[in-house]
Amino acid sequence: MKKLASMLAVAALFALSACDKQVQNGHAQKTAVTEDDVLTARSPYAIVIHGGAGTIRRKDLTPQQDSAYRAALNAALDIGEEILRNGGSALDAVEQTIHYLEDSPLFNAGRGAVFTNAGTNELDASIMDGRTRNAGAVGGVTIVKHPISAARAVMEQSPHVFLVGKGAEDFALSIGLDTVDPAYFFTQRRWESLQRAKAREAQTGQYLVDPNPDYKFGTVGCVALDKDGNIAAGTSTGGMTNKRWGRIGDSPIIGAGTFADNNTCGVSCTGHGEFFIRWVVAYDVAARMEYLGESLEEATQHVIREKLKAVGGIGGLIALDRAGNISMEFNTEGMYRGYARPGERYVGIYKD
Ligand code: ASP
Repeated sequence: MKKLASMLAVAALFALSACDKQVQNGHAQKTAVTEDDVLTARSPYAIVIHGGAGTIRRKDLTPQQDSAYRAALNAALDIGEEILRNGGSALDAVEQTIHYLEDSPLFNAGRGAVFTNAGTNELDASIMDGRTRNAGAVGGVTIVKHPISAARAVMEQSPHVFLVGKGAEDFALSIGLDTVDPAYFFTQRRWESLQRAKAREAQTGQYLVDPNPDYKFGTVGCVALDKDGNIAAGTSTGGMTNKRWGRIGDSPIIGAGTFADNNTCGVSCTGHGEFFIRWVVAYDVAARMEYLGESLEEATQHVIREKLKAVGGIGGLIALDRAGNISMEFNTEGMYRGYARPGERYVGIYKD
């Protein structure tokens, strides 16, 4: 269904781009896709979300867990879709949808964030406005209830793009964002993951950055296209279990974990952050579209299935372009994901 939907949108564009148009001297001539063509074929709005990629196989989830994840993904999409349907902005849709996912203990963002080696929760988030290329991000915050809102506030209420640690928290406090006691982020499940990671580390002597086939990511992300044609993207995470030394992954790094530009696409990533930083994944998708003329589908498939896979960079991404085409690519066993367009809804977990 996902394939069919995006094929239809691509086919509509292709038909427009390939159609022969009469020119004044009477000769038929192939024309390139014009701005008008894109707008004609454009979905009025679109929203796509992820809740992390990783070793997520059908056998790993009980039927109850499976339906809890699907319900949460649907509820998150409901929030964003409602905003977009009513003519709200892509930025609002991204922020509010991610709020919901941050509040859910199912995902590694906000409440439910993974633990650092020191037993703390350090949260990262970023947001980008494709209309202006404004962006905001926070890294390593421990008391901000909704890191995505802190990222948006950095973008809109500070002259900076990226604030980290205590400074980011002071900023959040100074503008009255919701803050919580760090204990708010504790969940038993993530605590047990940390204990397992530490036991594995003691056994193997290997720190988490060594690829671990059992790793489950749970970062959340959202990309939206609103009725005005603006694209926004955001990502929020607790990072990777057992991280240390103030490690920050790709999620709050503009161009790596998050990117948006109305001229190309919006992207939010999840996976082994060190690879996503080094391969500048989110921007690479947009750059391939801009410089090589690739479609969203071609660009995302190339980056995730070929480039990253070849070097062992595990993970995935969600993306949409200005026509509302959607891509949800991953090179792992699964990725919590879903999208909505007028009259269309999809939610998925596994590869098949
Ligand atoms: N990309 C995130 C990080 O490396 C982790 C994730 O996607 O779950 O911090």
